[in-house]
Amino acid sequence: MFHPSSSPVKPAVRIAVSEAVRVFHFSGRTETVTMKLDVDSTSRGMSIPRILPRAEHPISRGYIDPDALRVLYRLHRAGFKAYLVGGSVRDLMTGRTPKDFDVGTDARPQEIRRLFRNSRVIGRRFRLAHILFEGGKVVEVSTFRKTPDAVQGEQGQEGDDDLLIRSDNTFGSPEEDALRRDFTINGLFYDIATYAVLDFVGGVEDLERRVVRTIGDPLIRFREDPVRMLRACEFAARLSFEMSEDVRAAIAELNREVTKSAAPRVTEELLDPLRRGWGHDTYRLWSEAGLLDALLPELGGVGAARAAEGTAAGLLFALLREVDAKRSLGTRIEEATLLSAMFLPVVFDAVRRHGPLSSAGPGQILLILEDTVNPLALRMALPNHLTQTVKHVLETFGRLTSTRPADPGARRLAGRPYLKAAVALLSLYARASGRYREAAAAWEEAVEQGLGSQALAAPFPVAPAPPGAISHPAPGGLAPARKRRRGGRRRRPQVSAAPA
Ligand code: ATP
Ligand code: MG
Repeated sequence: MFHPSSSPVKPAVRIAVSEAVRVFHFSGRTETVTMKLDVDSTSRGMSIPRILPRAEHPISRGYIDPDALRVLYRLHRAGFKAYLVGGSVRDLMTGRTPKDFDVGTDARPQEIRRLFRNSRVIGRRFRLAHILFEGGKVVEVSTFRKTPDAVQGEQGQEGDDDLLIRSDNTFGSPEEDALRRDFTINGLFYDIATYAVLDFVGGVEDLERRVVRTIGDPLIRFREDPVRMLRACEFAARLSFEMSEDVRAAIAELNREVTKSAAPRVTEELLDPLRRGWGHDTYRLWSEAGLLDALLPELGGVGAARAAEGTAAGLLFALLREVDAKRSLGTRIEEATLLSAMFLPVVFDAVRRHGPLSSAGPGQILLILEDTVNPLALRMALPNHLTQTVKHVLETFGRLTSTRPADPGARRLAGRPYLKAAVALLSLYARASGRYREAAAAWEEAVEQGLGSQALAAPFPVAPAPPGAISHPAPGGLAPARKRRRGGRRRRPQVSAAPA
């Protein structure tokens, strides 16, 4: 084997545990699945990887987060394999700054736990260790594992061809760990023992060719985990890579399967590119691949990327462009603003369809928001408080379009906790549509100055109608939103980036 320090010989242990877990799918279906945690300590890798010695790749320790380096070295000194894995290797190989530095090892979670006082073992599905550092930084350390067998659900089985993976906790060799990963470019390892890059999957070549290719048959890999289809497009958009021909064909065939995935995971994938500044190109690829249509048909339908100005899809893509532009300037955008921007074209469509809004009935906009935002939020499994905030932001946005900070009575608006998010939405909309520029500038300035005065009730604006459609003026206001209870979702802690 290439690795100079072989891991300590451990006795063979095999443990099988079953547990029932409820999964909420993006389609709205819920299902109880049995997760089989199958632990086999005897597996060992067989193949020799392609090895790129230090002189043949650009990864220098100076680019690796110092705490991640400490973790790698301590594992190595204790006699374990210690690799930088996944996205950080891909990003360092291509001269990018990784978002986080994940570590792979043959140490078991409890061994990792013993080695690091500042660690905790987490996860029911994936048992892995988090090593905690100052400032909330977390280095994630996972034991090498392999693709487990697909486990059938107790209800809602899809038949014999259901390959959906519901458990992912079978320990394996480094090679098996590389093979279970999604794309070749994400399957590279950086070995702290030798400073070499290990490639079991052809990732180096695909990085050179700028191709997103699944490890193994995409028809199988996407059926196992349909979220990978979203990820394929996202990596292609973010890295300006092409998807391989077989990946594109498989997505065209399987795109509707994406609704089988657990809703919080899909929602994470939907929001991540918006947060990170490549939303426009990612949504364009999702749209062209039929994935957006499968998940959120309200947002515009197939071919939406090329949709005309004045349609929901046209506005969506114009807004996404502005979100990316803000992110590229380093501006942080609140989650509620991102979601409001995503939903705004749908709300405009509904307002247009609704016809004239009565100025006397402040509840009309509220009802429209309930009708449009609630189903989207439910499908995305958004936490209740976020859904409520999004509706408040959209409602406040409506008022801002026809109110100025200096107007008499603007005080009530100024005191709203959602004002900042609504002003951010108004700025995005003004840039995307060319409308309300003056209102946006006035409110931006007011917020910058700390604001503090005056407000009045204002109507929700009507989007410009698409060619041929009839447009209506829209007076009216909003009542406070009704409450509804729903479960929250967990999110992985974020890790700070490496020094440049
Ligand atoms: P980034 O964190 O910059 O978005 P990443 O590649 O690190 O990119 P993560 O979601 O953090 O993406 O996942 C870490 C690694 O785990 C990936 O590089 C890949 O090797 C593996 N991985 C993630 N999701 C899947 C999946 N659905 N199927 C198989 N492997 C996956
Ligand atoms: Mg990552």
